[in-house]
Amino acid sequence: MAAVSLCDVSCVFRSAGKSVHAVANVSLDVQGGEFFTLLGPSGSGKTTCLRMIGGFTLPSSGSIFIDGAEVSQHPPYLRPVNTVFQDYALFPHMSILDNVAYSLMVRGVDRSTRERRAMTLLEMVQLPEVAQRKPAQLSGGQRQRIALARALISEPKVLLLDEPLGALDLKLREQMQGELKSLQRKLGITFIFVTHDQHEALSMSDRIGVFNKGRLEQIATPADLYNRPATRFVAEFVGTANVLQSQHVPGSARNGAVMIRPEQIRLELGTPASEGTPARVLGVVRDVQFFGSFWRVSVQCPQAGEPLLVDVPVNTALRAPQSGDAAQLFWDDAAAHPIEDAAVRALPA
Ligand code: ADP
Ligand code: MG
Repeated sequence: MAAVSLCDVSCVFRSAGKSVHAVANVSLDVQGGEFFTLLGPSGSGKTTCLRMIGGFTLPSSGSIFIDGAEVSQHPPYLRPVNTVFQDYALFPHMSILDNVAYSLMVRGVDRSTRERRAMTLLEMVQLPEVAQRKPAQLSGGQRQRIALARALISEPKVLLLDEPLGALDLKLREQMQGELKSLQRKLGITFIFVTHDQHEALSMSDRIGVFNKGRLEQIATPADLYNRPATRFVAEFVGTANVLQSQHVPGSARNGAVMIRPEQIRLELGTPASEGTPARVLGVVRDVQFFGSFWRVSVQCPQAGEPLLVDVPVNTALRAPQSGDAAQLFWDDAAAHPIEDAAVRALPA
């Protein structure tokens, strides 16, 4: 049985006489103990979807089940879930200890029990020393951990997290990604995590659902999402993608659009030798960007219409490719992955 199920769930907001379809016909099953991520650009319906699971927004149609029980119309306090909000929503006038112990206080747990429990949670997030401070006396990263401790103290079956790391700088965010993931593994709680950051989603999740304009475009593991995106939108949202019409790609067996990741293309400088494997396409280097461990090279290929992007590892290249260099591009058949594409790039035959 799934920990959380959404069956054909939609949410329509009406504001100023207009209808906004924030979430449209979403169905998904999140398994117990899973780290499931809702990924998508701003405005794609992630927060609305999470709020419907938490009970803060009610669906316009469809059903929501938690642990097999229908909760579609239940208020938040009747659902075995808790939420870490984007802005953490700590109470500014309360001590950190009281913030963490808050939900136990509401339930009438006596002071010494709830304070002992709150201290255990503060130790778990490695911040026992801040118990007597106020939220304003903490850094962003510390506030984030406190919000987590406060949400976990009620031992929810499912924890909902809405862009919890969004306010942190890159280094701290990467550190917290690792900590959050190992905490989730240790506790075995189901996490439903919202982010617009594809790196964060790929590195943390067991599975990812990609939102586009209120719809779920694909649900897959990080590796499948990256290597076998179903649509052009997914291909381009989770990474950099070359999208080509396959009949124009030498060696392609099928018609339709194919996607090739820049790191799946091998680049050789210079014109072809008479022996050896012939290149898929020939071109001219137009632009080179340095990314530290690789060069992203834009190659103009007459056969392919628009330029193709190729990632060239810095340590294997003899010299930096330069604008104007003749280039040969090679890739394996398996690197060209068929995708659904509403607007396939029109290529000259
Ligand atoms: P995301 O979290 O992916 O950025 P949201 O779920 O917040 O997206 O929003 C999805 C769409 O619904 C957006 O167009 C947003 O403007 C709209 N929306 C969200 N909340 C409301 C609301 N309370 N009233 C009207 N429109 C809303
Ligand atoms: Mg949001």
